[in-house]
Amino acid sequence: MEDLGQQAGKLILILGPSGSGKGTVLKELRERHPDFVFPVSCTTRDPRPGEKDGEVYNFVTKEDFQARIGRGEFLEWAVVHGENYYGTLKEAILKPLREGRTVIREVDVQGLRSIRDLIPASNLRSIFLTVDGWDTLQRRILKRSALPEEELERRRHSFLNEMQWQDECDVVIVSVEGEIEKLIADTEGAIELELK
Ligand code: 5GP
Repeated sequence: MEDLGQQAGKLILILGPSGSGKGTVLKELRERHPDFVFPVSCTTRDPRPGEKDGEVYNFVTKEDFQARIGRGEFLEWAVVHGENYYGTLKEAILKPLREGRTVIREVDVQGLRSIRDLIPASNLRSIFLTVDGWDTLQRRILKRSALPEEELERRRHSFLNEMQWQDECDVVIVSVEGEIEKLIADTEGAIELELK
């Protein structure tokens, strides 16, 4: 367990299935809360259109990622969806926590489990963002673009799998179709409550 000192801040982990609106919520929180710290993680996946290196992720090669593992740079790291490496950076998280700041980071369930063993429970909270069911998510996905049946089936499986993460989180927030503002406000409210 890390010794964070008396004045340490809280680490808020955000989890949820893809398509739950996590990305939008985090982007909005970042704009509204310059008082919070949003640490970058490293990943070996390719950047998507519009993603800038050093904002949410440092995009690195597998070799670089492995060298960083060797140097002990990660608080935790995991292979997500069986292909790419993702890892939270120790310094980017521990330093602001020791300074008493609120740190907000998205991780998968492996990240939550590892971090639970490293950060004292009094300094750690987890918030799960989700939709009310596969039908809602499917509608949302198909609104963006048509997908082959096979791909939809794959996504349904990972959705059902990711939904089980909520049992391990402190707070669960369900997003309602078309109400992204409410989801942002609910998440903000949950964070404020957890900081009290
Ligand atoms: P994406 O590639 O869509 O940005 O993220 C894929 C998955 O990786 C999501 O579930 C996301 O929460 C998770 N993830 C993002 N950063 C980290 C990290 O630093 N550590 C871990 N363990 N998972 C992460």
